[in-house]
Amino acid sequence: MKKLFLLFLVGLFTSCVSQDSKIKVLIIDGVNNHNWQKTTKATKATLLKTGRFTVDVSTSPGKKAAPAEWEKWNPDFSKYEVVVSNFNDGGKTLWSTKTQKAFESFVKNGGGFVPVHAADNSCADWVEYNKMIAIGGWGGRKAGKSGFLLRKKDGSWNKCCENSGKSGDHGPQREFLVKHDQPNHPIVKGLPTEWLHAKDELYHSLRGPAENVEVIASAFSLKGSKETEPMIMIIKYGEGTTVHLPMGHANGTSLQCVGFQTIFARSTEFAARGKVTIAIPASFPRKEKASVVDPEKLLWK
Ligand code: ZN
Repeated sequence: MKKLFLLFLVGLFTSCVSQDSKIKVLIIDGVNNHNWQKTTKATKATLLKTGRFTVDVSTSPGKKAAPAEWEKWNPDFSKYEVVVSNFNDGGKTLWSTKTQKAFESFVKNGGGFVPVHAADNSCADWVEYNKMIAIGGWGGRKAGKSGFLLRKKDGSWNKCCENSGKSGDHGPQREFLVKHDQPNHPIVKGLPTEWLHAKDELYHSLRGPAENVEVIASAFSLKGSKETEPMIMIIKYGEGTTVHLPMGHANGTSLQCVGFQTIFARSTEFAARGKVTIAIPASFPRKEKASVVDPEKLLWK
């Protein structure tokens, strides 16, 4: 009887641990036209402050490193549940073929992926990467070559403009209103359905294969395309899930925006586990007022 009770306790303990275990995140950085040190510091601090994640960082060789250096950069993605990208090679893929294949298998087999801001400028020539992010900008992407824009018409999102329009741009940095297209999606459920994002670049006219993609939130590009642009996208790639976040320019206050931090942390949890348990900070922005707090000081409960 004693033995049975002990087994019961062990079972209970194991099941608690497996349900509540921290999510293992890998942030990749090292090359970016933005201040990637600043972005990694802020995004890592946001994740750690929630108490829900453990975070490792893998910094790649520099942009001008010899191919032999890139051959040696092989993060072990399989040790993680989700990869956050703060990496932008400017369009021409720098990763070795081995590392590209390892990353494709990681996501295809159920891994999570969260590309932040300029990560969607990366790898214009890597077909599978573009499937994972659905749409991207700059880096040699072009109308007639790189796929579609996503445009909202009569309440639904459609592919369009395969042969016309830009392939990534942004207007001047400003505060802008983020609206939730799917307010009941776990990432945004319980949040105000419209909130003012702190000053940031509003990416517009991103282009790509746009397959298996759902838009969860969007913003109107008043100073750019004058169209509604996706701000949170979910892409299924094999068994894996990407949550693509075009917000998060390194300079200014976009990474300190409580709205961004909340969306980023909840998106990372969703990409990893398919559900969201992270609380909503009381300082979450409202429609009329943005809210900025350093990640180290943000109170999550
Ligand atoms: Zn930027």
